[in-house]
Amino acid sequence: MRDQGIGSWTTRRARMSPDQVAVVGEGREWTYRQLHERATRFAHALAGLGVGAGDRVAYLGPNHVAFLETLFGTAKLGAIFVPLNTRLTPNELAYMLADSGAAVLVHAPSHAEHADALRGMVRIPHVVDLDEHARLVAQAPVEPLDEPVGQDEVAMIMYTSGTTGHPKGAALTHGNIQWNSVNLLIDVDLAGDEVTLVNAPMFHVAALNQTVLPTMLKGGTVVLMPAFDPEGTLELIERHRVTYLFGVPAIFAAVAASRRWAEADLSSVRTLICGGAPVPHQVITTYQERGLVFLQGYGLTESSPSASFLRTRESREKAGSAGTPCFFTDMRVVGPDGEQVPPGTPGEVVLHGPNVMRGYWGKPAETAAVLSADGWLRTGDVAVSDEDGYLYVRDRIKDVIISGGENVYPAEVEDALHKHPAVADCAVIGVADERWGEVGRAVVVLREGAGARPEELLEFLDGRIARYKIPKSVTFAGALPRTASGKLLKSQLRTTYGGQR
Ligand code: ATP
Repeated sequence: MRDQGIGSWTTRRARMSPDQVAVVGEGREWTYRQLHERATRFAHALAGLGVGAGDRVAYLGPNHVAFLETLFGTAKLGAIFVPLNTRLTPNELAYMLADSGAAVLVHAPSHAEHADALRGMVRIPHVVDLDEHARLVAQAPVEPLDEPVGQDEVAMIMYTSGTTGHPKGAALTHGNIQWNSVNLLIDVDLAGDEVTLVNAPMFHVAALNQTVLPTMLKGGTVVLMPAFDPEGTLELIERHRVTYLFGVPAIFAAVAASRRWAEADLSSVRTLICGGAPVPHQVITTYQERGLVFLQGYGLTESSPSASFLRTRESREKAGSAGTPCFFTDMRVVGPDGEQVPPGTPGEVVLHGPNVMRGYWGKPAETAAVLSADGWLRTGDVAVSDEDGYLYVRDRIKDVIISGGENVYPAEVEDALHKHPAVADCAVIGVADERWGEVGRAVVVLREGAGARPEELLEFLDGRIARYKIPKSVTFAGALPRTASGKLLKSQLRTTYGGQR
């Protein structure tokens, strides 16, 4: 059945809650009616440029209402939205623009130079800056325009954040995105009066599909933060009485380490979800000690992204777990033979459901490597489930260190190191070792003014984790390389600090 896709969400919201504030940003607000009108006008403008169903429209810029107008305007035509990572170099962006075959690139003023460079590197029929975007919106008609699309037609191409080499575009359908939001609304109990702060860049799947879109499906308000900063996050929470926030552990850790943390008024906050990377216990307890509901979620770009959540009522009893599968998603932990392993035994997480991507854009071999014929997605993550079916994500299979035949999960070692008072940040990578094959090396950022010798840190781990898991060396660093959303770039760490693979 060809019905209406995610482009129709603004139409439906404008009908159901026209005067509710949809977006807050740049010191002003847009109601659902206003957002809908602007997205509709932009859809007409895109059609005027020759864009039609299936064409690709890319966006390059920080969080801004024009991002959402472009997303919904593109979807209204049945065209495909391609959000681009603002931190990438023109070379990397050119790869994505060519790979997706973008017909239009919309860019913010911050990326004008990039856009100029890209013009000479890849054929893009239309490059539109935000002034031009505003002009197009102002001039275009406002008559409703929601082309019928099928649930299994692609709505978005999201390039994986590239923590593991060459980016691949996960092709997410209208159905994927809709069901991901439905999963979230069922599992996390988001309400219609939610005020959601988006302090991570919207070109990342979690910021967009975990915060913005479910909030809008339900009719809540989205507060856009153009660039993350910890103090600014607390200030926006207070000013807008924010109720919901999603982030990777590094973001939550930075907020809790900020100067304003102790005195900040967090009384409006109902739900905090942390995910996207292994969550150190230290981070969980810091938030729970403030009396906040701090949940963990697990997912990946390829599953739009939600796969599992820890629910509010379980947040203390099962702290540290990524919960149980989302309502409409099935999950198994399997061994190398593809058979489910018993509770307590590590295995690979595999997923099935309406939120699992259609495949990687234009990459049938890469798609076949992760997606079975019957639709099960291999996540590449190793986890155990407990007797009650709760998932404990250990780490990515490719980051596991095999030392003397034993598997060492860097996330567990990092978790233990984070508890040392002098450690501000840390990562553990595998380095070649003649005797053990591979051993761990900790890369540590010390807190300002704190001192610790390598031996001291390693002694600290003795008794907290098994001997074979303790790294053999410590290297100090000023900062760790992270993606724009705050995830550790392990491949870069391995290149810089002499790791394997
Ligand atoms: P790339 O695929 O290029 O490596 P990426 O994996 O960082 O990029 P994402 O799809 O954003 O891109 O990340 C998904 C991964 O993040 C998961 O496969 C998993 O390894 C990790 N992750 C997500 N949530 C959790 C969690 N709660 N606990 C542990 N790890 C998590």
